[in-house]
Amino acid sequence: MKNFQYFRPSSPEAAVALLDKTWGTAELLGGGTDLLDLQKEYVAQPSKVISVAAIKGFDGISVLEKEPPVVVIGAGTKIATVASDSGIKEHFPALASAAGGLGTPQIRNMATLGGNLCQRNRCWYFRDEHVRCLLKGGDKCYALDGENRYHAIFTKEHTCVIVSPSTIAPALIAYGASAEVLGPKGKRTVKLAEFYRAPRKEGEREHVLEANELVLSVSIPAEKGLRSANYEVAQKRSYDWPMAQAVVAFHLDGKKAKEVRIILGHVAPTPLIADAAMKEVEGKEITEETAAKAGEAATEGAKPLKQNEYKLRLLAVAVKRALLTAAGAKKYWVT
Ligand SMILES: Cc1cc2nc3c(=O)[nH]c(=O)nc-3n(C[C@H](O)[C@H](O)[C@H](O)COP(=O)(O)OP(=O)(O)OC[C@H]3O[C@@H](n4cnc5c(N)ncnc54)[C@H](O)[C@@H]3O)c2cc1C
Ligand code: SF4
Repeated sequence: MKNFQYFRPSSPEAAVALLDKTWGTAELLGGGTDLLDLQKEYVAQPSKVISVAAIKGFDGISVLEKEPPVVVIGAGTKIATVASDSGIKEHFPALASAAGGLGTPQIRNMATLGGNLCQRNRCWYFRDEHVRCLLKGGDKCYALDGENRYHAIFTKEHTCVIVSPSTIAPALIAYGASAEVLGPKGKRTVKLAEFYRAPRKEGEREHVLEANELVLSVSIPAEKGLRSANYEVAQKRSYDWPMAQAVVAFHLDGKKAKEVRIILGHVAPTPLIADAAMKEVEGKEITEETAAKAGEAATEGAKPLKQNEYKLRLLAVAVKRALLTAAGAKKYWVT
């Protein structure tokens, strides 16, 4: 690991003042479950590491009395706290499921919400210190013709075929959440649906933050009567990322679903809003048949790589099962 200076500011403004204008030289440290790995592999080589642990009021969950009420989760809040909060479990079951199923108890007790949303991708070429791919200043994506079974299946127009690694992000997008961000010019609000972008070259991250900005908190409107569910297809129930994920949310008008949102995770460089799948069930009763059709529609536009066509089926099943779970027809995923 390259030597670095360690800072522990007590305010978000002081943390921002320590950040640099370009990526690479200074890094925020949440729980360190991602950053320290990258430093040990020489993939991240910051000369300044700025811990958020001593920032006052940076963690915790509160409710703003608005219409609808808004739940605010500090960026320093541990994933384990998000997963076990009774209000989150009741109003945002898909978020509680994504947080509760993430990694291991040790990781959930260290990892923060801000760090989860800003974690780097898991492409094994990217994380190998000896490989210089597009995101590390090289001129080639090694995954395109290489080992790509866990990479994106929505690859059109992407030169880098990572999958977005956060399982929390698709849930937050489905709930219409926003991130409050602080930079040198003050605060701004970014909808989670617009928080991610596909990186193409060195100096670009998987999100739209500037190098000298930090996430302060995430706000989620608590829509009355919203039904939701998260379904992840993974090789094992712990210590791994899913291969495909679907988060759904909708209201029921009688038996018909309305304002349907279906967000796909781990199949594209960003979380994906599945428009065709949403249209398939909007205004319809969620049944085995309509949920299955939505699952098939969710794969529209996919262009899998040589080793990951299998993900098409996993994704269709994830969407179907998330819809049936949220509708109360079947319960597939219990944390
Ligand atoms: C075995 C294993 C399984 C895992 N499975 C999953 C999974 O299923 N789903 C999933 O989502 N994740 C999974 N993870 C990843 C884990 O969730 C992340 O490592 C963790 O959430 C990162 O949080 P952290 O606080 O430790 O971040 P850190 O490692 O401290 O930081 C990560 C990045 O975020 C930046 N950062 C930190 N805080 C902020 C902030 N407030 N504002 C802006 N930038 C910030 C840092 O500078 C750094 O670049 C897994 C990890 C492991 C090791
Ligand atoms: S998918 Fe992206 S991170 Fe992985 S080798 Fe290709 S360019 Fe690099």
